[in-house]
Amino acid sequence: MDIRNACRSCCESCMSYFKKPPPNSQPGINKDDIVIVNPQPRPSEYVYVALYDYAARTEDDLSFHTGDTLEALDKSTGDWWIAKALTGVSATKQGYIPSNYVAPVESIESEPWFFPDTKRLEAEKQLLAEGNKHGAFLIRNCESQRGELSLSVLDRGKVKHYRLRRGENGHYHVSKNRTFETIKELVQHYSQREDGLCARLLEPCKRMEAPQTHGLSYQDQWEIPRSSLRLLKRLGAGQFGEVYEGLWNGTTPVAVKTLKPGTMDSADFLREAQIMKKLRHPKLIQLYAVCTLEEPIYIITELMSNGSLLEFLQKDNGTKLGIRDQIEIAAQVASGMAFLELQNYIHRDLAARNVLVGDNNICKVADFGLARVENEDCYVAREGTKFPVKWTAPEAIHSSKFTIKSDVWSFGILLHEIVTFGQMPYPNMTNYQVVSKVPTGYRMPAPPHCPKMMYEIMLDCWKADEHDRPTFETLQWKLEGYFDSDVTSYDDANRY
Ligand code: AMP
Repeated sequence: MDIRNACRSCCESCMSYFKKPPPNSQPGINKDDIVIVNPQPRPSEYVYVALYDYAARTEDDLSFHTGDTLEALDKSTGDWWIAKALTGVSATKQGYIPSNYVAPVESIESEPWFFPDTKRLEAEKQLLAEGNKHGAFLIRNCESQRGELSLSVLDRGKVKHYRLRRGENGHYHVSKNRTFETIKELVQHYSQREDGLCARLLEPCKRMEAPQTHGLSYQDQWEIPRSSLRLLKRLGAGQFGEVYEGLWNGTTPVAVKTLKPGTMDSADFLREAQIMKKLRHPKLIQLYAVCTLEEPIYIITELMSNGSLLEFLQKDNGTKLGIRDQIEIAAQVASGMAFLELQNYIHRDLAARNVLVGDNNICKVADFGLARVENEDCYVAREGTKFPVKWTAPEAIHSSKFTIKSDVWSFGILLHEIVTFGQMPYPNMTNYQVVSKVPTGYRMPAPPHCPKMMYEIMLDCWKADEHDRPTFETLQWKLEGYFDSDVTSYDDANRY
């Protein structure tokens, strides 16, 4: 909302905060244009609490820590607001802040224990992560009952879940014999005594990772100067070129993908990259910017600390994953792909090598759309040795029919990779044998120790008729609800 309109709708006197009306919704408006001339307390609707730490990336933005309060001066720029820090390291300074890092003061969103979009499986992962102790808790939206909330509590290494029900008078309760007007009162009560829960609510669950900002900075530049990047360390090499860990503007870690000259037509690439840049989702690698004015072209994306899922599964921590973690990883990939499905976008090369892993097993789909812009020559070369035959649906191999349903086929292969810790699919078969046997109905057998339900999902993805394959939305829902098939999986406070 334009702050001038917001002010008009609350009180005319708010207009005296501005020396002159701030400009309209122009990215890049100058924060210095806004000067506070009347230091009266602002209406609380303009005061926000930081949910995460943020370190300034340019000299125009503000650093802040979780819990600091900030006053929004101009929200018209959308994803980045101009704000004044009221407390903390930047107190009294003005600058840009990422709007998805703050929540209105005194709102439920600003509570450190409120994790609205966290699914049950994700809640368990977060509570079981290092740093949380017995009695750590969070409150989230309930998946099976829209509009209801669930409470998840860490109880000596296990997570218990409770429904927060509402009576006819709108009051909340975990157990019918004690009701509360607000969630905050409920939390306060159970933080003082167990009263039937498995533990007192002692500490909010630690937040794992700050969300991605929208773009690298408030300027959201697309073409950035090569000189603003420092390449620090080579992370790996793929079919398009080398990938480096880099630092943008001397402040912000990024991944820099360098494209081997000739692997792509640069006009095609730029057209595709414009689309890719708009695809923003927590489970998709965000494309930040490009350097295309000279070769090699650079693609700047978010950096993921644990590299590709394939490498991760094959070594160190990946080999220690249990089936719960594996399903949670699969659910994350399905969630990213469900978003692409909704946008009518096709990945074309979904595989564990194209999923990246961050801290706490956070997974994001990478390289969506890049397969489409590869050069013809490159495509032919791929048909020889590198074409990912074992991941590609039969109709895509035989008639070049790439659809979201051929992505679903690849997802089934990716599930196989996850369950076998990165084993090559069809391990004892050549590409030629795969191409000839799969169209006659051959499918990989269930890997050892693979749960029956997981193998059934794989077989669904490998249905011969693409129309019989599930949607990614269904796959996401099945995987997220894998351990949550009925309401009895909720704990009952009365029982204690
Ligand atoms: P690719 O060219 O995408 O196949 O990448 C080659 C290798 O570079 C991958 O296997 C990863 O280990 C690494 N890599 C690629 N992108 C990133 C990223 N955004 N963050 C961290 N590592 C990456």
